[in-house]
Amino acid sequence: MTALIEVQDLKKHFPVQKSSFSRVSGQVRAVDGVSFHINAGETLGLVGESGCGKSTAGRTLLKLLEPTGGSIKVSGTDITNLDREAMRPYRRRMQMIYQDPYASLNPRMSVGDIVSEPLVIHGDTSSRAERREKVATLFERVGLRPRLMDSYPHEFSGGQRQRIGIARALALGPELIVGDEPVSALDVSIQAQIVNLMMDLQEEFNLSYLFVAHDLAVVEHISHRVAVMYLGRIVEMTDKTSLFEMPLHPYTEALLSAAPIARSGARNRRRIILTGDVPSPISPPTGCHFHTRCPYATARCKAEAPALREVAPGHVAACHLHDNGVAFPLGQAA
Ligand code: SF4
Repeated sequence: MTALIEVQDLKKHFPVQKSSFSRVSGQVRAVDGVSFHINAGETLGLVGESGCGKSTAGRTLLKLLEPTGGSIKVSGTDITNLDREAMRPYRRRMQMIYQDPYASLNPRMSVGDIVSEPLVIHGDTSSRAERREKVATLFERVGLRPRLMDSYPHEFSGGQRQRIGIARALALGPELIVGDEPVSALDVSIQAQIVNLMMDLQEEFNLSYLFVAHDLAVVEHISHRVAVMYLGRIVEMTDKTSLFEMPLHPYTEALLSAAPIARSGARNRRRIILTGDVPSPISPPTGCHFHTRCPYATARCKAEAPALREVAPGHVAACHLHDNGVAFPLGQAA
């Protein structure tokens, strides 16, 4: 079966310059060789601390940022080097929901116009009345009253605004939606409503999601598989049950130990405190990027970068602890 999305060795580097006239003094390797696939109707959670490159990976996948290297395929077709015009049909198929429902909606447009804007941009030929009809249907589908479509964003709560953002993302009938921390700015009580709405919509429209988040509890609820990113690279990826029950990468273990997740495996887990911030992606640590914060680090970790390898069926991790290809619970490595 061909995956809906196939990303191979994707890179997004940004030049470092003091000003636009000075010479390039380095590269921020925000995304540095990331590979994954997403099947139709599947959610891949992409997690990591702020600054690990997960949002940049989502934007580069949608070609809102031009990739520096690697390839992106949609239903088997390579879209990496398509120009703006050739990308148009693919843009319809891949939409985004943004983190900040306050900033992502134009305050001068009615919410009905905001939701219908993608239809207009993509040359929808229906009349204004027909478009309003479509918008009313979308409003109902995301749990908003259609009579509110002439109101303005400031008249809505945070959760309602995110529903408007979801309606806008649905307008063109996409197959993939990238959610860039779509619930992080919302109250906890509202987060569950939005996540449940997204799951209902996934079932109804067979949507695929790349769900970018730092909150593992949210990712656990919505994801089928989870990829963990650290300093521009995926360090672990597997189905959510394996990841939450037996993380194989020390960074995942640390993220899980910090997360309030009430799982049987979590109750027995050692508490690992992640100290310090994510190092700068301009000059990442040598060898394994995580060695400066890893409780299991050895001299080898400082010198040699571990490859991302399959250590259990469908479970990949980049850590020398599993170099012999045998997966074991991390507590036994200490
Ligand atoms: Fe820690 Fe070494 Fe594994 Fe990196 S390779 S995660 S430093 S044990």
